[in-house]
Amino acid sequence: REELLTRSEKLSTVGQLAAGIAHEIRNPLTSIKGFLQIIQSEGTVPPTYTSIMLDELDRIESIINEFLFLAKPQQEIKFEVQPFRPILEQVIGLMQGEANLKGIEIIVELNDLSLLKVKGNANHLKQVFVNIIKNAMEAIQAKGKIKIIGEVNREKSMLTVAVIDDGPGITQERLKKLGEPFYSTKEKGTGLGLMITRKLLEDHEGELLFDSEIGKGTSVYVKLPFIE
Ligand code: ADP
Ligand code: MG
Repeated sequence: REELLTRSEKLSTVGQLAAGIAHEIRNPLTSIKGFLQIIQSEGTVPPTYTSIMLDELDRIESIINEFLFLAKPQQEIKFEVQPFRPILEQVIGLMQGEANLKGIEIIVELNDLSLLKVKGNANHLKQVFVNIIKNAMEAIQAKGKIKIIGEVNREKSMLTVAVIDDGPGITQERLKKLGEPFYSTKEKGTGLGLMITRKLLEDHEGELLFDSEIGKGTSVYVKLPFIE
């Protein structure tokens, strides 16, 4: 019975998602179509129109790109036992440049994670941390700190990575919405990052948790089972 319930829940999630995608893509399409109709009837192509149309196309492109990532055939995704720390360190290295440019300091404490292994897909796990650290950087906007701290729970064989920012924080009400497809407060956001993050973590038997205080910042916790 429980399984039946989750199955039907899943179906409705897929349905919701499909409706969401259709909606999100239709809006920019309608706008592009509108501009093309004006261009056709006026016989001129003002650069303001083309720049809006390009923005709308960018939006469609980023929505589709994020979904393609999910659409890979499941059998192509290899799970391997591998050291966890280098995966996270590579992502941090990747993000460091952008952080420097924005005046964001990234403080890293991962010693507790030394020697721990996880069973997983390195690219997917990297994507998880890219999404979370990017959100933290976007929240801070300019000048601030991101702490990335690793902790271990040996009784539960779970590791935790906390990504803690000192950005504006999230209200309790909005906190519940995180991970809902297309929930975004950003002008150029897709609102897909956390949904995908959550899905990728579920595939790894992991978990995604949030804690936030307005004016103080947000903490995002990634929990993953490890092998010693
Ligand atoms: P996107 O980044 O495209 O908006 P996400 O799914 O990554 O989509 O995030 C959804 C929303 O969650 C963001 O638009 C933002 O409002 C909120 N959010 C996520 N991380 C943070 C954070 N560290 N601080 C404040 N708000 C956040
Ligand atoms: Mg995001």
